[in-house]
Amino acid sequence: MNLLMVGAGFSNLALAASLKKQELKITVIERRGQIGGNCFDYFDENSIDIHAYGTHIFHTDNANVWRFLSQFTQWYPYQHEVKALVDGQLVPVPFNFNSIEQLFPKQMAERMIQALLSEFEFNRKVPILKLRESKNPDLQFLAEYVYEKIFLHYTEKQWDVRPEDLDPLVTGRVPVFVGRDNRYFQAKYQGIPLEGYTRMFDKMVDHPNIEVRLNTEFDKSMLDEYDHCFFSGAIDEFFDYKFGQLPYRSLRFDFLTFNRPYFQSNSVVNYPNNYDFTRIGEYKYFLDTKSDNAVVSYEYPEAFVLGKNERYYPIINEENKRLYERYLEEAKSNKKVTFLGRLGDYKYYDMDQAVARSLELAKTFA
Ligand SMILES: Cc1cc2nc3c(=O)[nH]c(=O)nc-3n(C[C@H](O)[C@H](O)[C@H](O)COP(=O)(O)OP(=O)(O)OC[C@H]3O[C@@H](n4cnc5c(N)ncnc54)[C@H](O)[C@@H]3O)c2cc1C
Repeated sequence: MNLLMVGAGFSNLALAASLKKQELKITVIERRGQIGGNCFDYFDENSIDIHAYGTHIFHTDNANVWRFLSQFTQWYPYQHEVKALVDGQLVPVPFNFNSIEQLFPKQMAERMIQALLSEFEFNRKVPILKLRESKNPDLQFLAEYVYEKIFLHYTEKQWDVRPEDLDPLVTGRVPVFVGRDNRYFQAKYQGIPLEGYTRMFDKMVDHPNIEVRLNTEFDKSMLDEYDHCFFSGAIDEFFDYKFGQLPYRSLRFDFLTFNRPYFQSNSVVNYPNNYDFTRIGEYKYFLDTKSDNAVVSYEYPEAFVLGKNERYYPIINEENKRLYERYLEEAKSNKKVTFLGRLGDYKYYDMDQAVARSLELAKTFA
């Protein structure tokens, strides 16, 4: 059987890696000059692992996904921490006891911490919606503070939305962590591939049955040459935008090198309330690389414009979901093509979710 995979991102590479032992001939085509999709990375002249499309931290509770990928890489046990510049202080986010103690006067901080401990479970995330429901005025204050200083202006920049258009159910999910765990994720498995993502991807597709063609654009006439196609490009593009474009947010990354050992205190610093960029990522932290230079990227959100920049984040709302459903209906009539991945499924998959989806697909296809 001859399979065509469109897009050499994580989704199709995981699919190819899990199908490669069978008697299938797999051709992966990719319009960019490298594999890995938005997870592509490279080691620069400072030996720093640069994530070309922004900081990527692998985290999952899915043991199957972790074991599957561990066939192709060892991991650096990196635990992600994010800080945000709030009222002149760099504080851990999600907001936790350490953030509270840094920002508020001692007595007030103690009252808040005691109130959190008496109303909620220790070492758990509590959405600010729950804090707002509390009768305790300190917790109500905390909820409003976190909403305004961590979430609101960051979200306005990231999604270009007005506060009144924000769904209260979504905004209410912003968490406060009841404890001192400064980590951004509490997942059981977290890490960065020891030799980088791209090296891991190379190993995933290293098989005589798999051919990868870079700088190759998909064309519908290719479908005739294959028994089945896995399409991880944009589903609206596949159908020539016949129902209209599915909206996305894009980003611009400004990479800068500073001649000093470190630029900032940890890998990602968010700027919710200042500047036009949302965050700065510093890359040497991921594999704890020692270098006299620090490489960072400033991340500026922008509108996605076809032909001008890349699709990064699907804008998931009711209207766009309906539009996607129309494409999905259309897709059902073509049994020869399976859509997958962030662009094919129009879903904001983290890396582990993209891999999990591909492993499931491989099972149904086997
Ligand atoms: C800024 C940013 C930060 C992120 N950080 C994290 C993180 O920290 N942790 C995490 O788990 N996830 C993170 N993610 C999500 C992660 O990037 C995705 O889960 C992953 O890239 C999904 O892989 P994919 O193969 O589905 O899509 P993609 O990576 O988008 O790959 C699709 C590929 O298809 C190619 N293609 C598209 N159309 C065509 C065509 N017509 N012909 C040929 N080729 C085509 C594209 O060029 C691309 O290479 C982040 C995403 C972004 C945008």
